Amino acid sequence: MQLTPLPAFNDNYLWLWHNSTHAVVVDPGDGEVVMQALARLQLHLDAILVTHHHADHTGGVNLLREATQAVVYGPAGENIPGPYVALTGGDTFDWQGQRIEVIDVPGHTAGHIAYFAPGKGDAPVLFCGDTLFSGGCGRLFEGTPAQMLTSLKKLAALPTQTRVYCTHEYTLHNINFALGLEPNNQALMNRHQSTIAQRNQLLPSLPSTIGLELATNPFLRGHSLEIQASLGLKNASELEVFSIARNMRNHY
Ligand SMILES: [Zn+2]
Ligand SMILES: [Zn+2]
Repeated sequence: MQLTPLPAFNDNYLWLWHNSTHAVVVDPGDGEVVMQALARLQLHLDAILVTHHHADHTGGVNLLREATQAVVYGPAGENIPGPYVALTGGDTFDWQGQRIEVIDVPGHTAGHIAYFAPGKGDAPVLFCGDTLFSGGCGRLFEGTPAQMLTSLKKLAALPTQTRVYCTHEYTLHNINFALGLEPNNQALMNRHQSTIAQRNQLLPSLPSTIGLELATNPFLRGHSLEIQASLGLKNASELEVFSIARNMRNHY
């Protein structure tokens, strides 16, 4: 299986997961971009996976369904262009011999779901929409800090080699913010350098891995004494650290 990023809008990636003949697309905000890629790569679109209802993740769903008859999967708790297979955490389905598991991850939106494939011969794959970002996390539009932290912890518990395919190119900005909280984190400094090198070559900074996120993402590192000190906290709960850091990031 291959993963091909299709850039769209300012900073979205529509992920095309495919073999040499069949594909799945995740969060197709722009249907034309996907149609062009399917034609170029000569792929048949079997399914569309939607993580949440925002327009930059769903805008191309109707066009693609009509053009390809792809099956649409999406969160049961949100308003997705139908008809679609409504999913909640714990649901599973199969595609091209891959098992795909649904994880409930409310916070960015109220019904946000993620898709996890344990992988068959490859490292596991996670499509997490706007929940866990590379070096950061999504804004809390519809959920509480406690909900988002619980969601992030579910993703953080996945195998460390899991490849993380989120949907926006926010890594460098996230890492600059993270360095302000944890300037002595060596893994974070290394990641800063490698991300700058990738972006200078106009390469995507994705995928990340769960292991890399555990080492560098401040929203998974509420236990870090350096982060706590940077926020003027001591012996604070992870939720307290998360809430303050998320709020700071809104204004960064
Ligand atoms: Zn969103
Ligand atoms: Zn988005």
